[in-house]
Amino acid sequence: MTSIPPTLTAGFDQLAFLLDVDGTLLDLAPTPREVQVPRELRETLERLWQRTGGAVAFVSGRPIGELDLIFSPLQLPAVGGHGAELRPVSDGEISKHAALAPLESRIKRAFATIAELGPGIILEDKGYSLAIHYRLAPDKESTVLQAATVLLTDMSDCAIELLPGKFMIEVKQVGFDKATGVRELMKFAPFTGRRPVLLGDDVTDESMFTVAPEYHGIAIAVGALPTGVSYRFDKPTNVRRWLMELSCLNDPAQIRESIWRSPSDPRPIAPEVRSDA
Ligand SMILES: [Mg+2]
Repeated sequence: MTSIPPTLTAGFDQLAFLLDVDGTLLDLAPTPREVQVPRELRETLERLWQRTGGAVAFVSGRPIGELDLIFSPLQLPAVGGHGAELRPVSDGEISKHAALAPLESRIKRAFATIAELGPGIILEDKGYSLAIHYRLAPDKESTVLQAATVLLTDMSDCAIELLPGKFMIEVKQVGFDKATGVRELMKFAPFTGRRPVLLGDDVTDESMFTVAPEYHGIAIAVGALPTGVSYRFDKPTNVRRWLMELSCLNDPAQIRESIWRSPSDPRPIAPEVRSDA
C-alpha cells in the first residue's frame, strides 16, 4: 500500500492542479494543429476549476492565446510558452515574463532551414520559441538534432537553448522555463498556499516537477517515469478518466485516496508507482 503523506489535506480547497496539455491531457497528433479536445475533458476541467475555486491551470509550451482557441469556450489560468507567459486567473490579462521579447526572427529563420532536410519536418512558430517537429519523419531524428546542435553552436552569441521533446525539438531563449512559470503562478490566489498536483509527459515537464517539493506538491508523469517522480499514468486517456472521476468526488478522504492510491489497485486509472522506488 502506498503510504499517504501524513500532513496531506486534500480537500479541493487545499489543492491546485497544474496540467501540461499535449501528451498529458491530449493525445499527441501527427501535427500540433490536429489535436482534438474531447468535450468531456472540457467539462471535467471546468468542473474541477469550479470545485477548486479556480485553482486549475495549464502549464504548456503553447502560447496562452492558442490554448484558449483549442479549449474554446473554456479559458483557464495558464502558464504559456514554457513560462514566457502567465495568466493566473481564467479571464485575466496575460503578462509576459519580465523584459522578454519574442524569439528573434533571424534565429527562427536560421533554425527554419532544418525543415529543408526532408519532407515531414514541420515548423511551428510559437512566438517565444520555434518548434521543429519530425513525428512524420522519425527517421530524420538524428539529422534534425545534429543540425540544431550545430546551429546552436554557431549562434553561441545568442542566449538560446534547445528543448528536446517527443519527436520534436524547440529553440527558445534562456531565463525561463516551466519551473519559473509555476513559481510565478504560485504567488497568486487561489494557487498560493495550496499543494499543487503537477502532471506532465515530457522532458520540458521535468523542470516543473522539481518545483513540487517546494509546495509539498505531487508530481505525476504520463508515459515514462523521470528520476525523482513516483507516480505515473500510461497515457492521456487514463489522465482524462482519472480527472473526470476525481472532479466528481466530494469526500476529502476519497479525493486523497484517489490521488495517493495503492499501486496494487487494479483499476487502470490509478497512477502507477515506480517499482524501484
Ligand atoms: Mg507535453
